[in-house]
Amino acid sequence: MADTITTRAKDFPEWYQDVIRAADLAEPAIVVKGAMVIKPNGYAIWEKIQRELDNRFKATGHKNAYFPMFIPESFLKKEAEHVEGFSPELAVVTIGGGKELEERYVVRPTSETIIGHFFNKWIKTHRDLPMLINQWANVVRWELRTRMFLRTSEFLWQEGHTAHATHDEALAEVLRMLDVYADFAENVMAMPVIRGEKTMNEKFAGALKSYCIEGLMQNGWALQAGTSHDLGQNFGKAFDVKFQNLAGQSEYVWQTSWGVSTRLIGGLIMTHSDDAGLVCPPKLAPYHVVIIPIFKTPEEKAATSAVGAKLAEDLKAKGLSVVFDDRDDRPGSKYFEWERKGACCRVEIGPKDLEKKSYAFKRRDVEKKEFAPLDGAVAHITGQMEQMQKDLFNKAKAFRDASTKQVDSWDAFKAMHEGPGGFASCHWCGDGKCEAQVKEETKVTIRCIPLGNPKESGACIKCGRPSAQRVLFARAY
Ligand SMILES: [Zn+2]
Repeated sequence: MADTITTRAKDFPEWYQDVIRAADLAEPAIVVKGAMVIKPNGYAIWEKIQRELDNRFKATGHKNAYFPMFIPESFLKKEAEHVEGFSPELAVVTIGGGKELEERYVVRPTSETIIGHFFNKWIKTHRDLPMLINQWANVVRWELRTRMFLRTSEFLWQEGHTAHATHDEALAEVLRMLDVYADFAENVMAMPVIRGEKTMNEKFAGALKSYCIEGLMQNGWALQAGTSHDLGQNFGKAFDVKFQNLAGQSEYVWQTSWGVSTRLIGGLIMTHSDDAGLVCPPKLAPYHVVIIPIFKTPEEKAATSAVGAKLAEDLKAKGLSVVFDDRDDRPGSKYFEWERKGACCRVEIGPKDLEKKSYAFKRRDVEKKEFAPLDGAVAHITGQMEQMQKDLFNKAKAFRDASTKQVDSWDAFKAMHEGPGGFASCHWCGDGKCEAQVKEETKVTIRCIPLGNPKESGACIKCGRPSAQRVLFARAY
């Protein structure tokens, strides 16, 4: 295994694996098939994601709780569509403490059922509603074909679970949380997303309707980055979750669930990174600034390090994550290492810079190195971090927009997806069988029916029957 990074143009999936290795984010567990180890550099990104999202969940009135990871098998069977959807992916515990269990447990693939069981105990009257719960947890879905961060048999996520008195309130919650996800994706991850509704074929097993945010990766494939589900009364009925309304009548609750996972880190990598390694938006970057003193002699080391260490302290005081790298190693190999690891920028301070009272500055996402005066360095560098956050979003959005095309013929549709990929905005008759046929023939799926989609009459891209609107098609992870 060479220590180089395959280029995106040569082999995108290989490039993706190489960036994860080069940035030291994670590695396949191997001894546990389909699982991964998230290493400190990768986990640091996840912690920042958690913090940003958790603040947003709290600000919208949710509270964190924790439920058992083992779920009695009978619970899953209470919602017919849910058990059918998840059965092929379940890990089941049959022995505990050396004895065959009376009732088998499944390792949670998601927690609607066990939370439904407890909502039944906790919710009695309209005064108990809305119930707004979030859980940070791991889940297990036995996947045969895995890809680090994007699809692993065990992954980390958050799952929101709420119960409401009316369907309107539940639906408002579903869309509120979709907006929270979209805001996070765009303003923190710098990843533009489309908000939309899933087709019946693609919705969550057990939901009335599912909504999603979809991003577009650099290879022209879409990534479902978050989902929010209108569960209707399906789980309320399955777990007999009833409340007494104001008129004293007993009614089933209306529920929602919504989640994002460590797959966001995969999306982050594939949205921003380049052939030199990880590129990370400042709001989630484990390293903002790497300061490298340049020296040949001990005297030079002392002089440049003194200035560098002082600057490091000043930047840390502004809340930036700073590495002062004065190891006795060639500067070139340090540049190489920090570039791969996605440090947002590097500062070089050499003896000549000291004479000129300046420093060399290189932003990870900008080709050219520039020189700036040491006086005012803190303001310059913090300003550059804000600019980088914006620039990464704009660059990704320009790519997404340029890769989104209205396609009106089947030949053009096939050519697009055999070629550069991207979002194809096409008419669709609304028939799930037609959608399934497109998937069968091209592996392309309907990513979503965008929210606020304009009505427009046309002919279905596949069957030619009348269509009332365009939907977004793409290859997807
Ligand atoms: Zn059709």
